[in-house]
Amino acid sequence: MRHDAIIVGGSFAGLSAAMYIARARRSVCVVDAGAPRNRFAAQSHGFFAQDGSSPRAMLAAARAQVAAYPTVSLVDGEAVAARAQDDGFLVELADGRTLEGARLVLAFGLADELPPLPGLAERWGASVIHCPYCHGFEVADRRLGVLNLSPMSVHQAALIAEWGPTTFYLDGGELDPAAAADLAARGVRIESAKVEALHGEGLGLSAIALADGRSDPLDALFIGPRNHLGSPIAEQLGCDMDQGPLGAIVKTDAWKMTTVPGVYAAGDISRGAHSVTWASADGVTAGVAVHRSLVF
Ligand SMILES: Cc1cc2nc3c(=O)[nH]c(=O)nc-3n(C[C@H](O)[C@H](O)[C@H](O)COP(=O)(O)OP(=O)(O)OC[C@H]3O[C@@H](n4cnc5c(N)ncnc54)[C@H](O)[C@@H]3O)c2cc1C
Repeated sequence: MRHDAIIVGGSFAGLSAAMYIARARRSVCVVDAGAPRNRFAAQSHGFFAQDGSSPRAMLAAARAQVAAYPTVSLVDGEAVAARAQDDGFLVELADGRTLEGARLVLAFGLADELPPLPGLAERWGASVIHCPYCHGFEVADRRLGVLNLSPMSVHQAALIAEWGPTTFYLDGGELDPAAAADLAARGVRIESAKVEALHGEGLGLSAIALADGRSDPLDALFIGPRNHLGSPIAEQLGCDMDQGPLGAIVKTDAWKMTTVPGVYAAGDISRGAHSVTWASADGVTAGVAVHRSLVF
């Protein structure tokens, strides 16, 4: 069966696109591997009417609502390749199945590259966090740290100071005098030593161990890890890329169309700033654009 649209990635962006295409009574097939980027967090914050909800519960409700439309099919699986053919696109799944559609929406999200600091990965999304708008309120006025991972980390340290007393862990890196003066003016303490490990009960954090034998008490550590596209499919199709703040993103126009006609990109893979709200809005934009491209 040839669908009007195939969507690769059925999370906040992909399901939002599917909802709009389905409401326009067009056939849409969503293939999803079931690993949304915020799966490590117990609660999602900041989304209209869903503040504090579990990401899994939000997605389960969205899947059920989208699946209720008669022109929708949801496929559990991983798309491994896509190419243009016959005025449309062919998508291959890891299990050998193929899907055909007139339009393609890429919404497969980003993968974070966590630093190999002992004790960090298991606390990601709980006491090791990246977005103050998502999780800063819950740790406000506690003992906060920012780990130096890239030039962006200086900016992150300046921002996090808005939420509470902040230490910037340089981890043996360098800081130019102007940046150091700016952080000091914001009350940010700078720790130069290399960091060795994170400690705490369960998913919680209580201390950061330094390589020189000292240890700092700490309640939450902010990091800004680099990231990469969750799938090579955009490159396979020949989509142009832009450089985002922490990794490559797919270049799109205001209607979320990529540089390949008929291929749209929505959510984290198509923007520099990331949230459930922005991803959902991108999906809506792409869904409307796909429908209009089929009409006009
Ligand atoms: C720890 C953490 C906490 C966060 N907390 C918040 C928060 O509180 N509030 C907020 O607004 N934002 C939060 N975010 C950001 C939010 O998770 C993202 O902005 C949002 O998930 C992006 O949605 P998306 O649909 O673009 O991609 P994703 O949600 O990452 O979904 C991509 C989907 O595509 C699937 N996929 C990937 N490759 C393939 C493939 N080849 N074939 C089929 N399917 C594929 C994946 O399995 C996944 O289901 C958080 C992020 C992190 C990392």
